[in-house]
Amino acid sequence: MSSKPIRIALAGIGKIARDQHIPSIAVSDRFELVAAVTGHAPPEGVPGFATVDAMMQAVPDVQALSICTPPRGRTALMADGFRHGLDLMIEKPPAATVSEADGFAAMARAADRILYATWHSREAAGVAPARDWLKGCEIRRVACNWKEDVRVWHPGQEWIWEPGIGVFDPGINALSVLTAILPMPLVLEQAKLRFPENKAAPIAADLDYSHGDAPVRVEFDFDQRGPQTWDIDVETDNGTLNLSKGASQLAIDGQPVDVGDETEYARLYRRFAELVDARQCDVDLAPFHHVADAFFMGERTTIHAFDEQPDR
Ligand code: NAP
Repeated sequence: MSSKPIRIALAGIGKIARDQHIPSIAVSDRFELVAAVTGHAPPEGVPGFATVDAMMQAVPDVQALSICTPPRGRTALMADGFRHGLDLMIEKPPAATVSEADGFAAMARAADRILYATWHSREAAGVAPARDWLKGCEIRRVACNWKEDVRVWHPGQEWIWEPGIGVFDPGINALSVLTAILPMPLVLEQAKLRFPENKAAPIAADLDYSHGDAPVRVEFDFDQRGPQTWDIDVETDNGTLNLSKGASQLAIDGQPVDVGDETEYARLYRRFAELVDARQCDVDLAPFHHVADAFFMGERTTIHAFDEQPDR
């Protein structure tokens, strides 16, 4: 490990860059934020540039780029980053289409650079202990409820309602956790997608999978007011495992397990530093393939229009 921090830039200074990336880099001893690629105001204290080319001309010693733009349009940004010799980390979902994302690992190999296609929910504190506990268990039934209010987490964002996104933006987080903790592959049996009449993407989805002989019921809802629900229950021959609060909390048979309190994004940047040190890529597209399957197989119904301000 090098003693000098990795000089990193951020691209796309929106909600997640401001809520998580900038504060996480600020407290990391492995990274130093030195620039931003942005069409608007850069983070305080660093210069902003409209393109990667302009940034590299002005700040040629940038080493890494963390991409926080919406999924559509990332490939060009990534190609620019690799062309300038940068190691890359990208927010989830990795791309707008599976075919596009399928090309990412080869792009990184061709450039001989690191690519970390992140799944922030996989870094929640309960995920690794849950995976370890489930090893060797016979899984009998799984229930996943991932329900949140799009108005809170994506206020006014137009891209969130583009075809292929909607409730699968948070839903892919649940799929990233399920595919990390369950020992066998998930097979989609049935999918029901509910589209508001004024939107091109679903606001809710019910997905039924099999995991060996065990049924796995997954429910997503993007219109949940009040307390938010990010829960996974796994019934096994050895007891029932519960992940709650986005997998940051773990309980076995109702008894809380101490999993520490390191945040998802602190772990995400720690992992990126490990990958850069080891010159290793991490590009697992399984959650994204499951989203594509749901659209491929999903029965669609149209429901009432989505209201951005229902309490007016
Ligand atoms: P956002 O608030 O809309 O910000 C995205 C930023 O990307 C914009 O501020 C803009 O940056 C840039 N951008 C480039 N092309 C854009 C386009 N066509 N439309 C909109 N913005 C564009 O989005 P976000 O919530 O931060 O989400 C960004 C990514 O992080 C998504 O992949 C999302 O799934 C993921 N994520 C979001 C959350 C969350 O809670 N919101 C949580 C985890 C992960 P400049 O202003 O700098 O030009």
